[in-house]
Amino acid sequence: MHRVRVWTVPVLLLFAGYAASQAAPAAGAHITVLRAARMLDVKAQKIVANPVIIIDGDKIKQAGPGLEIPAGARVIDLGSATLLPGLIDAHTHLLQNYDFAIGEDENMLLTVSQMSPAERALLGAKMGREDLEAGITTVRDVGNSGINGDVALRRAINHGWVNGPRIVASTRALSAAGGQFGKLQHDAQALVEQEYAEVATVDEARRAVQRAFYDGADCIKVIVNTGPRVVSLEEMKAIVEEAHRVHKKVAAHAIGEDATRIAAEAGVDSIEHAYIVPDDVLKMMAAKKIFLVPTDYPEQIYTEFIPASVSPEDRKEAESGMKEFAKGNRDRLKRAVAAGVPIAAGSDEYYQMGKRTRGESSTLIYESYRDSGMTPWQIIQAATVKDAELLGWQDRIGSIEAGKFADIVAASGDPTQDITELEKVKFVMKGGEIVRDDLSRGQSAVR
Ligand SMILES: [Zn+2]
Repeated sequence: MHRVRVWTVPVLLLFAGYAASQAAPAAGAHITVLRAARMLDVKAQKIVANPVIIIDGDKIKQAGPGLEIPAGARVIDLGSATLLPGLIDAHTHLLQNYDFAIGEDENMLLTVSQMSPAERALLGAKMGREDLEAGITTVRDVGNSGINGDVALRRAINHGWVNGPRIVASTRALSAAGGQFGKLQHDAQALVEQEYAEVATVDEARRAVQRAFYDGADCIKVIVNTGPRVVSLEEMKAIVEEAHRVHKKVAAHAIGEDATRIAAEAGVDSIEHAYIVPDDVLKMMAAKKIFLVPTDYPEQIYTEFIPASVSPEDRKEAESGMKEFAKGNRDRLKRAVAAGVPIAAGSDEYYQMGKRTRGESSTLIYESYRDSGMTPWQIIQAATVKDAELLGWQDRIGSIEAGKFADIVAASGDPTQDITELEKVKFVMKGGEIVRDDLSRGQSAVR
């Protein structure tokens, strides 16, 4: 072995010297240029014709119509496609993938008792790759990842060990007693702390926030209510104060009059789900600029996954219940938009939806937003600039602008006409690296 090494090193050095003596590479050699028929200026809600995006390393150097292409740049022409910023999902659970054949409680029990955080991180690597391939280049992952499995996945992606979206991680969600577990006998209670950080006093709330940041959290997730177990207003205020003190944001899972009001009064940054929320709370959210993350799916998706084993009568009842649920969601999203509540897109996807990849499932939410009366531009903004703002990353992602990460996707059609174009993006770039290209098929040219 030594002989090989001694022989190899001088040869490599010689070769490096030879290469260096040749002509210096053209100035644009490390530059990639993207071209297409259209580009979405998501901030201005404008379509830019014949855009040129000049990418230097992992960042956008310049973007606009008809820019001069630097000499030596690699040019990728996506033809008639529409370019837009990479999609953001503000509510993911990459480290769980539930099975519709069994109940929610059983799924949680099996996941937490049988899968180590390491195993869940590996599952998350698959889910993350599937998100990325569907055009989701950034996620805010809000708990249900064991003890810091989300932080492990974030590190793995950032180091390039696995391919996945940028991750804003919450570590364990804070909650009242029992987290979101169903019934557990006394000796099984230890499972709760594998998944949730329980708080019952203001001091515990502060300590849990500090612990989350010590564990590597980028944001805080709180389960405000699970049935009659509710985090108090005083505890919520302490959580928000503790997080905001260090410029971190708080996402609150809240459903119903009391919990949404507690979250809004405490001044969280986003309220997740809020399937039931009164108008005065929506008004408060609008005034305080608290985002609603409507984790809604189109009506047919809810009815698609009623277990095959149920009786015809039960199926009928379940279907009408799901239809009512979907209608309620559409009504509350309409009320929220009308009240001026900022909307950020988030999927809350954590089930295996047939043969769909995680990304294919997660992008179905846009159809439900459309069915609730949001315009394509409003939906595109919710999934890009608005999400970026909610994540506190408005300076680095969410639009195609100089200085931002080159996180760019392309749809073959025009998403401002048909939002389902976002369910089938054909090109994905994250940080200047091509993840997927079904358009140019790798036929890039050097100029
Ligand atoms: Zn969730």
